[in-house]
Amino acid sequence: NSDIKRVLSIQSHVVHGYVGNKVATYPLQLLGFDVDPLNSVQFSNHTGYKTFKGPVSNEKELATIFEGLEENELLPLYSHLLTGYIGNPLFLRQVGHILKKLRQANPGLVYVCDPVMGDNGQLYVPKELLPVYRDEIIPLADIITPNQFEVELLTEKEVRSEAAVWEAMEWFHQRGIKTVVISSSDLGQPGVLRAFLSQQNGPRLAIDIPKQGGKDLVFTGTGDLFASLFLAHSHGSKDIANVFEKTIASLQAVIKRTVASLPSGGNGPVKAAERELKLVQSKTEIEQPQVLLKAQRL
Ligand code: ATP
Ligand code: PLP
Ligand code: MG
Ligand code: MG
Repeated sequence: NSDIKRVLSIQSHVVHGYVGNKVATYPLQLLGFDVDPLNSVQFSNHTGYKTFKGPVSNEKELATIFEGLEENELLPLYSHLLTGYIGNPLFLRQVGHILKKLRQANPGLVYVCDPVMGDNGQLYVPKELLPVYRDEIIPLADIITPNQFEVELLTEKEVRSEAAVWEAMEWFHQRGIKTVVISSSDLGQPGVLRAFLSQQNGPRLAIDIPKQGGKDLVFTGTGDLFASLFLAHSHGSKDIANVFEKTIASLQAVIKRTVASLPSGGNGPVKAAERELKLVQSKTEIEQPQVLLKAQRL
């Protein structure tokens, strides 16, 4: 049934701020999806603050919650599974079991996997997650949204050129993944983030994104927001370039509003709390993205 629009979203919850399920739920709802957030952690705030506190859920708790959904015969209601930051290999393996049951209940279920492991050469999860993603989880995904560093980890090859990007994309397609989006890379001109998309038997695309804010300004939750917007726009769309453009358009509008709220436009030092995405304030740009950055066909 392709009319159903309900996402099981397994990600982190933060009490304050916008990452994980806190950043993914609202845009999906605005774009017409029912969202069932299953929280992998409940933290006070994201891990980029000077401290964070709160419990981490284990694979048994995940299995128990899922059992409740299963026993109430709710599994056929899901059109999508979305996963983001997961900090424990056994929890990730349990996600694989859950996915198989969701697919049995709805063979058309789409799995969007953001294989969050690190950024800029730094791992921020235990290294034991890598083989579970590579060998068990990624082959089951329909859409993946790794960053450049995560592509290097998964393919075990450096990605330092555009030729290497397309080789890496093929590595994923050979494993059955239809759509691969590299949400950001440093392969653009100075001051420009270059994002790439490759679809099996489809186009190769790139979008150049001028970096907003000062050189040292980083946003948290933008990768998670990217994955949720991409999921929403890809549902039922045949125009993958437009899906990519609309995703980037809403993201850029959210970031623009966030930068505008910062003291000195984000050029001086900025506290983690000040950098929280202006998500709720960007309702209009999420509902009606204005495409300013167009995809190049390569
Ligand atoms: P993940 O969280 O999955 O590791 P990632 O590292 O690619 O993903 P980001 O680097 O935050 O996540 O990039 C995701 C998207 O956020 C990019 O496609 C871009 O649209 C937007 N983005 C992030 N930082 C900026 C910035 N400084 N200026 C403009 N856009 C940005
Ligand atoms: N979840 C938690 C708890 C985090 O602390 C973070 C980043 O610090 C994220 C998710 C991911 O954020 P991003 O989308 O920027 O990768
Ligand atoms: Mg990044
Ligand atoms: Mg992320």
